[in-house]
Amino acid sequence: MSGDLGLYWTAWPGGDRAVMSRHPPSDLEAAAEAAAASGYPALQLEGVGRTYGSGPAAVQALKDVDLVIRPGEFVVLLGPSGSGKTTLLNLVGGIEEPSEGRVVVAGNDIETLSAKERTAYRRDSVGFVFQFFNLVPTLTALENVEIIAELAGEDPGQRSREALDKVGLSDVANRFPGQLSGGQQQRVAIARAIVKEPPLLLCDEPTGSLDLATGRQVLAVLRALAREGHHTVLLVTHNSTIASMADRVVWLHSGAVTRQEQVKAPVEARDLEW
Ligand code: ADP
Ligand code: MG
Repeated sequence: MSGDLGLYWTAWPGGDRAVMSRHPPSDLEAAAEAAAASGYPALQLEGVGRTYGSGPAAVQALKDVDLVIRPGEFVVLLGPSGSGKTTLLNLVGGIEEPSEGRVVVAGNDIETLSAKERTAYRRDSVGFVFQFFNLVPTLTALENVEIIAELAGEDPGQRSREALDKVGLSDVANRFPGQLSGGQQQRVAIARAIVKEPPLLLCDEPTGSLDLATGRQVLAVLRALAREGHHTVLLVTHNSTIASMADRVVWLHSGAVTRQEQVKAPVEARDLEW
């Protein structure tokens, strides 16, 4: 792991709170279990607002958003273009700060983190997957994952091979992005996002540039990662079909949460149609 700068999800020393701390857990699975057992939500937004600009030009991208997400949940955030989805992910990912309210991750308000801790949070606790895969074209699939694994410390080669294996790409590890299909490239991007074993996986329109069949494959990989219990997935999309595979769906409109629904029997990704 990443040594003294890293933040880890672990049991609070001398207590039962699972929090991010600077003490490396003996193993990451134990830390994830401790976080899950703590009763703390993986993620909580309380009265979160975000305004860009000021005066008459001000844009209120998010308004008074309340949200509670449990560890291991697969949540789909659904909303039309401009409804504030990317803004919400950026707030959760520590890339932006809320204008109002609190973003609390595993019991910790991320606004209270020092600059160093915030950097460590973004680096170690959050994995991002975007619509466009952003792979380095001159590096192989394995090398694209390794450049991130190296930030996380020990054994980047082994960790990267394991991450590629989890997304079903062991056999194409030595290909360059240009030699991979769109779906395969997105799975490399997912491997890169999970190689540090971040508790939170934030996906911004991850199937937005994929056809139906490859989109389903990518979603099935994300679903499996959430089910294994080590990743809480927050996926934003404007595609309402994807909602039926979620544990919970949150509707966002003009920056406000307008509705939330628990899905009793989520469908498998392979059965989605759009
Ligand atoms: P979505 O991802 O749902 O399409 P966004 O979160 O990107 O929505 O944007 C929500 C609103 O905030 C939009 O009106 C957008 O124009 C505005 N917005 C987003 N980012 C910025 C920014 N950096 N500066 C000014 N306005 C922004
Ligand atoms: Mg967006």
